[in-house]
Amino acid sequence: MKKLLNLTPVNEWLKINDEPVIISGPCSAESEEQMMTTGKAIAAINKNIIFRAGIWKPRTRPNAFEGIGTIGLKWLNMVKQETGMLTATEIANASHAEEALKHGIDILWIGARTTVNPFSVQEIADVLKGTDSKVLVKNPINPDLQLWLGALERINQAGITKLGAIHRGFSTHESTPFRNVPRWEMAIELKTMIPDLPMICDPSHICGNTEFIPYISQKALDLDMQGLMIESHFKPSIALSDAKQQVTPAELKVILSKLVVRKAESTNAEFKNKLDELRETINKIDDQLLSVFMNRMSVVANIGKYKKENNVTILQTTRWEELLKDKITQAKAMGLDADFVKQLYILIHEDSIRKQTEIMNG
Ligand code: PEP
Ligand code: MN
Repeated sequence: MKKLLNLTPVNEWLKINDEPVIISGPCSAESEEQMMTTGKAIAAINKNIIFRAGIWKPRTRPNAFEGIGTIGLKWLNMVKQETGMLTATEIANASHAEEALKHGIDILWIGARTTVNPFSVQEIADVLKGTDSKVLVKNPINPDLQLWLGALERINQAGITKLGAIHRGFSTHESTPFRNVPRWEMAIELKTMIPDLPMICDPSHICGNTEFIPYISQKALDLDMQGLMIESHFKPSIALSDAKQQVTPAELKVILSKLVVRKAESTNAEFKNKLDELRETINKIDDQLLSVFMNRMSVVANIGKYKKENNVTILQTTRWEELLKDKITQAKAMGLDADFVKQLYILIHEDSIRKQTEIMNG
């Protein structure tokens, strides 16, 4: 199969010593003092942290702080000169890309509001063409894998091979504890399609507050993501954007020190044998699951035929509601996750309706 992207290995441009890549710094550059104070405190934690700041801020409504503009790029460079940290910023159009290149910003990222727009992404790709830029592409605001992949492809087709993705969660109307729901499966699917694509998680924009950042950060590392982007500010309470989700450098230090970095694989023979054994057991259970589904489906087909012969509708909502309620109660008693079982039954039920419709119309 043709590879979707042509990538430079992550260890050659982004990862140092197999440590997770950490990108941190303020949501927005606000003043020289804010940048220097925050930058020095971040560098004191670890000089390998990449220092971020937003220069042009995409805001939902006008008349809010829309970013400091080009002067912020100079402050990013001042932090770099003072501390030695690499720098990163968001670009949303061709002129941002030109400005960021002119100022020698080390890593450019495309924001969630830009990834959704192939016109802007192509404009940026045209400016970056022929440069040796390093680019990270955030997931689009809406959970559309093709848009995310498409933006990566556009940048890649401009010859940029030092390329990665940032998982920052997805907008939703559902009420959830998150500002942007993680929908981990989207990031996992992209990673499965392009295994050598570095994936950085942005717990700050997923959470929208500071409380869950440690949990989301650890989960991202446990899903074998290559790093984290965490917003930080020397005094989050006075931040001009995303005040609620920024951590202080001291808090960042604690978060990072508590992370457990696990390996994707182990060379220990005993571990491998035991894992192989457990995986074999899982494979057998999965085989059983499929045959249970097959048996269930043949009963569904019989029900469909029977309803057809007796001129009865496919759906009886009370029966379905009762079944779902029973299964959720049973699942809880068995120590299974209620929401997982609910989603599973919704899928099973959908497929059962599909089968019975096929029979009714057959
Ligand atoms: C940001 O990183 O500050 C930002 C605006 O992020 P996103 O594009 O994920 O909303
Ligand atoms: Mn932000």
